[in-house]
Order: sequence, then C-alpha cells, then structure tokens
Amino acid sequence: DLDNNLFDTTIHRRKTRPVKVGNVTVGGNNPVVVQSMINEDTLDVDASVAAIRRLHEIGCEIVRVTVPSLAHAKAVGEIKAKLAQTYQPVPLVADVHHNGMKIALEVAKHVDKVRINPGLYVFEKPSSDRTSYSAEEFAQIGEKIKETLEPLVVSLREQGKAMRIGVNHGSLSERMLFTYGDTPEGMVESALEFIKICESLDFRNLVISMKASRVPVMLAAYRLMVKRMDELGMDYPLHLGVTEAGDGEYGRIKSTAGIGTLLAEGIGDTIRVSLTEAPEKEIPVCYSILQALGLRKTMVEYVACPSCGRTLFNLEEVLHQVREATKHLTGLDIAVMGCIVNGPGEMADADYGYVGKQPGYISLYRGREEIKKVPETEGVKELINLIKADGKWVDP
Ligand code: SF4
Repeated sequence: DLDNNLFDTTIHRRKTRPVKVGNVTVGGNNPVVVQSMINEDTLDVDASVAAIRRLHEIGCEIVRVTVPSLAHAKAVGEIKAKLAQTYQPVPLVADVHHNGMKIALEVAKHVDKVRINPGLYVFEKPSSDRTSYSAEEFAQIGEKIKETLEPLVVSLREQGKAMRIGVNHGSLSERMLFTYGDTPEGMVESALEFIKICESLDFRNLVISMKASRVPVMLAAYRLMVKRMDELGMDYPLHLGVTEAGDGEYGRIKSTAGIGTLLAEGIGDTIRVSLTEAPEKEIPVCYSILQALGLRKTMVEYVACPSCGRTLFNLEEVLHQVREATKHLTGLDIAVMGCIVNGPGEMADADYGYVGKQPGYISLYRGREEIKKVPETEGVKELINLIKADGKWVDP
C-alpha cells in the first residue's frame, strides 16, 4: 500500500515467465534485456552481418531484422550461418509484416524469435459502408486468424523458439478499431486474442509489446495489459518501447519518459529505444535508463552538483576530466562536488569524492571519509592513485 511504498527504494519487478531467445533469456529473474534493430536491407547479407555484429559488440543483446519477402527470409538463414562462422551466434528476431505464413515459416527456421503484428491479420476487405462487426463476424475472423497462425505457432513450439506479439497503436485492425475504438483497450484485446490462440496450441514462449508513439497511450496500454494478464493468470514478459520517438535530445527524453516510467513501476523485461538515428545510438540510451533506475549497472555512476556561487573550481571541466579518466571502470560511484559546505553530505553514497576544499585545493573522499587534501592541479591524478591503492583500478 502507499504508506509502505513511500519508504521503499527498490523497484519490484513484476514476476514473469522466462522466455528463451537464443542464448538470452527475457523475463524471469533475468536483467532487463537491451535490444535494437538493424536498418540494412536484409538481402545484403554481408552488410547485415556487419551491422548485427557492430550492435552486439556495443551491448545490444538481441538484434531484430526485417523480413518483407521470402527472399529476405532465406537471406536471414545466410546471415545466421555467417554470424556463427565469422563471429558468434547472436539472438536474432525476424519482423514479419505479413499475415502470409510462407515468409514466417521460412524465417522461423533461422531466427530465435518471430515478431508478428496482430493488426496485420486482416481477412475482410475494408468497406466504407461498414461501421461495426457483429459478435458472430468477430468470432469468425478470430477462427480464421487461428487457422492462419497455427503452423507458425506449432513450428516455434517444436523448435523451442519464441514469438513476440507486437501490437502497435497505429496499426490496429479495423475489427478491433470498430469494436473497441482507437484505444489502449483495443490494443490489449488485440494482444489477448493472439495470446489465447497460442495458449490453445500449448505455446507460451511469448513476449508482448504495446507500442505507441504517444507516451500517455503507451503507458495506459502497458498498464492495462498487465492488469488484464494478472486477472487472467498470465505472466508473459513485456517488451517496452515508444515508437517513432524521433531523434536527438527529445527522442531520448520521450523514450525515457515512456520506458523509464514503466520500468520504475516494475513493468518491462526487455527494452528498445527507437531513434531516427543509427541504431548504435540507441544502445547507450537503453543502458543509461537502466542504470539511472538502478536496474543494471554497466558504467560508472557520476554524482555531480550543478555548481553555484560557492563552487571552488570549474566543475564542468573537472567533471569532464574525471569522466574521461574513469569512464572505463564499472560498478563505481564517483562524486564531483563544488564545495565542502554541502558536498560531502550530498555525495554520501558515492565510493569516491572529489570536493572543492579551498581556493586551489580539493579534498578526496573514500565514502564519507576525507582521505587527503591536494592541489587542484593534482586532483584527477590523485583520485586515480586512490582508486589504484584500493585495488579498484583497471587499465583502459
Ligand atoms: Fe554549490 Fe557546494 Fe552545492 Fe555545489 S555542493 S551546488 S558548490 S553549495
């Protein structure tokens, strides 16, 4: 309850079932997995292999490729083989933007997870006269979807592979739109229909996503999905993302507002930040979100005051120097504080502190303990010496 939660500083992640995607597991007690998607043409096998490798080397744990045709599906087989020969197996996901099963069935042989979009499983021709679907029509189409989907579900089940049911707010089927409106409820019902089909075929290696380009819609859809899954006793892991977040600072902030908010509530097992930039740019953003929330620690955590009239040195410059010297270390918290007045108290949790002492001098701290006063010109060097003396230094 709220009174108890007020004192709780840990994020309690929603309990989900572990779903294996190649050699990575999404959900269960596993860390939140970072993923992205290459933007190379999948038919260009060499360029795709290079792009997947680039992403994997900087920490992208699952890589998605797009598969618009049967030729692309076959190319994914070559990509997978080439990766295994020249690098290492990387968990791959195929995005199948079709309700045609041939492509999905071919690519399911080569990848670890297939992503399908329920909104694309449409069998009825759009008609301008139509404004609703009767319950009978609705159910009949549901039956057709099941028949269509069954071979893919069976194939993935038999191979021990996974499926993402990836609902997008922007591409709900007309049947869902007319029945539930252009709403989070429509998105959730769309996912539930597909989950139930998979369950009826005894397939539960599922990951669910509810993406939207508007953060409040995305938040509502994921929260409602969690509520409905809880009511139905379902524990599928969730893949979080804000679609079409754009680029630059606002793209990052928008993604963080959506993904970070849900993660803070304990919702989410894998994340993708979608930027209109090279996919390599997405990975540091993912890790920063996870680190800021204390969900994964993959880099040094810097604590620095904003500086004010009391600041005794050029804080921006010193923080930059400290970061450049120490950014390769993992697992440490380092504070850079402008003055002794508030500095030591506010950096209390940091492992090391660099604090303005008096003009021209700084103090180095280990935790709350002041270790030594040194001239500012020696500050960064002495900080490194202190970290070395404690055996926590590794060469870059
Ligand atoms: Fe100002 Fe000192 Fe606070 Fe930094 S730590 S903002 S210099 S009072």
